[in-house]
Parts: sequence; C-alpha cells; structure tokens
Amino acid sequence: MKDVVVVHYSELGTKGGNRRMFERKFTDDIRRRLGADALTVRLESARVIGELAPDASRERVGHALDQVFGVAWYAFGKIFPWTPEDIGFAQVEAAALMEACRDPAVKSFKIHARRSVKNYPLVSQEICVRLGESVIGAAGLTVNLHRPDLAIYVEILTNEIVVASGRAEGVRGMPQATSGRMLCLFSGGIDSPVAAWLMMRRGARVDLLHFHPYRSSEEVIGTKITKLFDVLKTSNPEIRLFLVPHDRYQVSASLRVPTAFETVFFRRFMFRTAEALAGRLGYQGLVTGDSLGQVASQTIDNLLAVQTGLSVSVFQPLIASDKNSIIDLARKIYVFDLAIQPYKDCCSLLSKKPKTNVAVDIIRRLEVELEMEKMIDDSLGAASLWDGKMLRRVPGKVLKDVSRSS
Ligand code: ATP
Ligand code: MG
Repeated sequence: MKDVVVVHYSELGTKGGNRRMFERKFTDDIRRRLGADALTVRLESARVIGELAPDASRERVGHALDQVFGVAWYAFGKIFPWTPEDIGFAQVEAAALMEACRDPAVKSFKIHARRSVKNYPLVSQEICVRLGESVIGAAGLTVNLHRPDLAIYVEILTNEIVVASGRAEGVRGMPQATSGRMLCLFSGGIDSPVAAWLMMRRGARVDLLHFHPYRSSEEVIGTKITKLFDVLKTSNPEIRLFLVPHDRYQVSASLRVPTAFETVFFRRFMFRTAEALAGRLGYQGLVTGDSLGQVASQTIDNLLAVQTGLSVSVFQPLIASDKNSIIDLARKIYVFDLAIQPYKDCCSLLSKKPKTNVAVDIIRRLEVELEMEKMIDDSLGAASLWDGKMLRRVPGKVLKDVSRSS
C-alpha cells in the first residue's frame, strides 16, 4: 500500500473537447505545487493521485492544495492494486480500519464508495455494507449517515483502489490559465486584490496594473502594493505588476478639470491607459474592484462615463457584492491585513465631493481638450514591470518584446 493524496476537481469549464486540456493543466499545477512531497502526480479516472514521498508533510501538502484553483476536495489515504483474481478487499478493510483508528476522538463514520469501472465484482452498496460491518466490528465505531465524525472514501479505479478519509474542501473554480489573460486595475485597497483573485479562480491569467503617486516606480517596491503582489503570486506564480506613475496626468490635467469631474476623469485616464496597455500586450479583458454604489465614482452613470467606448471587456466581479462579504474573502485569501495598511494617497488630490452622474459627453469633451492620448503615451513611456525580483522599464519597443515573450 502506498500513501497518497486524492484530489477531485470541481468543474471543467467549457467541457467537451477542452476537457483534456483542463485536466492536464490541473494535474500540472498540482505537480508543481506538491514539489518534492510527491513522488508521482497523475490523472486517473477524473481525479489526480499524488503518491506521497516518505518524508512528505500532510500539512504542507494540504496548504499547497489549498492554493490550487479547480480543487473541489481532497483526502489522504492509501492506494493498492486490484485484479479480477484478487479484488483486494482485505486491503480495503485494512486501509479503512487504519483511517478509522487514526484519531481516537472519532466515534462515528460513514463510507462513500464509488466505482469508476463497472467490472469490479462488488457494487458500491455492497462495498459500503461489507466494509461498514468490518469497521463496526474491529474499531467499535457507529455508523452515522448524516453527521459522521469521519467519512471514509473507497474509490475503485481501473487497476487500483484508493481508500481515503478526512475530506478537505478546495478553493474550487477553474484550473489556472485556462480562461485567457487579463489586466487588473490594482489600487492596493481591499477590493482590487479580491477582484484579481476571483478572476484567477475562474481560470484567467491575471497581471496587475497600478498607478502610483511616486516620482519613481522604485519607491513602490516594498510598499503594500508589492506585498499584496507577493500574496497573489502564490495563486498565480507567473503574475506581473505594471507600475505607472500618474504624475504626467496630474501635471496635464489636475488644474484643468472642473472639481466635480476630477475623480471620474482620473478614473477614465486609468481605464484608457489600461485599455492601451491591454491592446499593446494582448490582454483580453480588464478587471476592476468596482462595486455598485460603494463610492460616488461607482454609480451606474459614472461607471458608464469611465468605461464608455472602451475596446476591451471590463470585468467587475465584485459589482454586486457588499463590503462585508468582500472583507470576509479578503481575510480568507490573506490580503486584508496588507490592504488596510497606509499608503501614499493619491486620492487626497481629488475632490471630496465628486458628482455622482457625470455625463459621457463631458468626459469625451475633456478627453479631447486635455489630449488624453498624449497623457496615456507619456504615462506608458514611464511604465515599469515588476516580476517579484526585478524592476524593468518598459518603454516603446520593450513593450512589444514583453508581448512576444508572454
Ligand atoms: P479597492 O477598490 O481596491 O479597495 P479603493 O476602494 O481605494 O480600492 P476605488 O477608489 O474604490 O479604490 O477604485 C475602484 C477601482 O478602481 C479599484 O478597485 C481598482 O480596480 C481601480 N483603481 C483605483 N485606484 C487605482 C490605482 N491607483 N491604480 C490602479 N487601479 C486603481
Ligand atoms: Mg473600492
């Protein structure tokens, strides 16, 4: 018998012909995350089986699996072969007993049996009854079908049987990098890291774009922005952070935009710049942490004024969420404590009383008057890219190289 972790996936996205691609990415992600804790990681009958190394730590493996998008649940246990001549039931009983006796606090149990192949001579119900009797007899536990202390899983595969227990819930969603590339407008507040994580959980490969108030992008390194980046990097190891100073905008626009429109126009600048970057680098969508009515700039009129005519889709996964549930999720994904840390505030430059229904025409007119295209080009000319280790400038030609290398 070998020690294994068995991992079930939650959904297969667009299914059909894509199923194999989803399964492969899911398996690869688990293999990479388990590292030396797993001797082998393979897909078998719609679940992933990781054979654990002798010195593997269940805690470490569990922590790694908790980061994997697409995991519905996982459990630790044993695996061994079966053949039509030797159906391995004695081993099923031994393994189930081991699981049942692992924790003395366990008083009741339930068996879940599932056959992925129909040529195993016992049907699921027979496995449950026979195994149940053995566990009652040998371990002295009682059966509780509704609220058992321990659930024991018996999974009959093509040539092997898995017996596992102690189901842990996964984060669910879709396997990493299966739903396109997106660019998240990342403020470093509570909402945008949660929005980025939610889109990652839907399988998007998300990079971040932050407009910062410093003279040089180097000053952002070490602030909560890069600390939040590090947390999100555990979910997407490939993540990158674009840093764009907004001083070009401030110089060109701040004194020329009427106070009531400042906030919305500044957001328009951020969205248009993100749109330009997305176009140049092939991102298929923008992601923001907007939530309807949360602040004056997030009324339905102002959201339209900011987004009107953009040539890229905008995804706002928090649009209908209330702040408390966003905070709960922020805590769960370890971004809350960082997000509430102080940061040099650019919004103190903006009016405290923004208009809640800025008309699209006004924004369009201001864009022409203040030469938005030039502000965008100047700002992107000063863009830098942070990968967690190195900060690189990304002007003109290099932007194209970035596009090719990704
Ligand atoms: P968050 O929404 O992340 O908690 P916040 O509430 O301070 O931060 P808002 O003013 O509500 O930010 O902005 C709404 C959205 O606009 C943010 O979720 C983010 O997507 C985008 N955004 C705001 N400021 C910036 C910035 N400096 N750089 C990039 N995107 C930003
Ligand atoms: Mg917000």
